This record gives sequence, C-alpha cells and structure tokens, in this order.
Amino acid sequence: MLMVCLIRSPDTRSNQRIDQTHPVSEFQLIHRYFADLGVARPDVVLGIGDDCALLEVPAEQMLAVSIDTLNVGVHFFPDTDPESIGHKALAVGLSDLAAMGAEPAWATLALSLSDPDASWLGAFARGFGRLATAHGVQLIGGDTTRGPLSITVQVHGLVPRGKALSRSGARPGDAIYVSGTLGDAGLALRLKQAGVAIPEPLQARLDRPQPRVSLGMRLRGIASAAIDLSDGLAGDLGHILEAAGVGAELELARLPLSPWVAEAVTTSGDWSLPLSSGDDYELCVCIPPAALERAESISVDLGVPFTQIGWIRATAGLAGYLPSGQRLGLSTCGYDHFARF
Ligand code: ADP
Ligand code: MG
Repeated sequence: MLMVCLIRSPDTRSNQRIDQTHPVSEFQLIHRYFADLGVARPDVVLGIGDDCALLEVPAEQMLAVSIDTLNVGVHFFPDTDPESIGHKALAVGLSDLAAMGAEPAWATLALSLSDPDASWLGAFARGFGRLATAHGVQLIGGDTTRGPLSITVQVHGLVPRGKALSRSGARPGDAIYVSGTLGDAGLALRLKQAGVAIPEPLQARLDRPQPRVSLGMRLRGIASAAIDLSDGLAGDLGHILEAAGVGAELELARLPLSPWVAEAVTTSGDWSLPLSSGDDYELCVCIPPAALERAESISVDLGVPFTQIGWIRATAGLAGYLPSGQRLGLSTCGYDHFARF
C-alpha cells in the first residue's frame, strides 16, 4: 500500500494544503477527497472502503460499462486546471453511456499521481464531483497509486433490456444527425499549439465537454444507430458505416459550426476541423425516416441543437458535398494513438 505525502505549501493560509510533516496515508487521501463524490444512490449496498463495491442492478435493466484513460501530455496539457481534468475524466465516459442510451449510475476512478498536492486533489475532486452530481452518479471505488499523472474512469449505466443504441443499426435512407456544434475543441487545441489566445467558449468546449446524456436516453427506440464523437466526425461515423455495411453522404454546408469554426473553415477552405478533429463529445445519430418528427421534437424539448447533416446510403464509403456541389471522398480514419507505429 502506497503512502502518499502531500507536498508542503508555501501558502499557509490555505487550509486545503497539508504540512509535509504530517503526511496522510493513501486511505486518508481517499477518505478526504473521494469518499463522497457525486450523489448517494440507494442502489449502492456498499461503496468505497471494502474490497469491492456492491450494487443492485434491477432485473429488467442491462448494465452498460465503459472505461477511458486520460494521460498527461497525451489527453491534456500539464497546465490544464485540475477542476477541468476532473470534469473531463468523467465526461468522456458519460458521453459513451449517452451514445448507448444508458442512464449513468456509478463510476470507479483509478488515479496515478506523481506528486500529490492537496489543492490539485481538491480541485480535481470538485470538477469530478459536480459533474457526477449533475448526472446522478456515485463514485463507488477506485485505486490510488504513485506514478506519472494518469486518470482512468470506468462508468456504469443502466439501460432497459433490448433498448440500447448500438453502432450497427443504420439502414440506407436513414437521416444522419449530430448534436451541438463540431470542431470547437479541435480549434481550441490548434490555437493553444500555435500560442494564440483561445476564446473562452472554445476553451470550455475543450476542457469541460457536456455529455449528451438526456438526448441519448430519449432517443431509445427512435435512433437506429448512435456513436459519440471523440475522434472526429468522419472517423466516428465511419464506425457506424462499417458496423452496418453501408455508406453515407454528407452536405458540408449543413454541418453545425460555431462562429469561430465557421470563420476558420471559410478563411482556409479546410474542412478538417469539423470533419476530423477530436474531443467534440457530441452524438452522431441515425434516424429512420418514420421517426424524424419524433427525434426533432425531442431536441426541441431538451433545448439541444440537433442538425441533420446527411443520409445513410447503400453504397459503401463516405462522401461530402461542398456548397458548390463538388463531391469529396472523405477518409474515415479518425485519430489513432498508434498510427505512427
Ligand atoms: P484494495 O487494496 O482492496 O485494492 P485499496 O486499498 O486500493 O483496496 O482501496 C481501498 C478502498 O478505497 C476501496 O474501496 C477502493 O475502491 C477505494 N479507492 C481507492 N482509490 C480510490 C479512488 N481514487 N477513488 C475512489 N475510491 C478509491
Ligand atoms: Mg482488496
């Protein structure tokens, strides 16, 4: 069992910092920051503190499970504020649950810390806890180790038996929709890499994505297929096309863009931001023609922008039509961590 000493703070006024002469154990650290994150759910029979958590899964529901890791220098910059890291570490998993139409319930957290700092942990826990509370999630366990900063979150959700949205149900003639706007996080990343100031709304889209959980749940029984956009629209839609053995056509003029991304596309003539930059955490959904009105009324009810961008076709491949009518063949290669090997 690792003993973790919190580093001494020069700021003696902050009661969040702990003096190095009074190191806290791994268990004190867990108790202090992670014991009560999110809501207290009645279906948690046993939460943090034993060898396993014990959970009640209702008989008529399926358990939906997804896990994601965020590594410093790969998924976030070393100077990213810890509250945003805590938020995003949970948000990416909730976005996977949204794409399955599952209702979030529980999360586990494996945290590797090189230099545990009380104010860092407090802010991380706040970001994680706020989003967990907003979505009715309870943190029910985890693991805490010393090592390069890395955060792994497993999320668990519930979806009525037979009602999960999958990637494989798209059929020719279905309409393709996306929620929100595309390419904002990608533009924030490009500006950061170029050392240019990032407008706050774009920074928020990169650091604190809002998973489309309510939309995913309401699309149960309506959408034929769904995926969340983590690696770019073309690549992620490509997974739907491959799973169903179909193709698609997109009208690029229909892509929902924020003013910043619209300007970047207009100025450069380069559509890669909305088509292939990652970290959007919007939903891409296929809707059969008979369900279009119901789908659109749900988006109005929820106040979530939901835009038709194209159609599923029987012929394989992904094509985009420019406003001029020119046809572009689009690569469905999304971001690949191992592409250079
Ligand atoms: P074990 O040795 O049985 O793996 P640990 O000593 O790692 O258990 O953890 C003790 C308890 O604290 C367990 O209930 C575990 O799930 C929980 N826990 C450990 N780290 C975290 C964390 N970062 N967040 C939430 N719960 C944690
Ligand atoms: Mg154990």
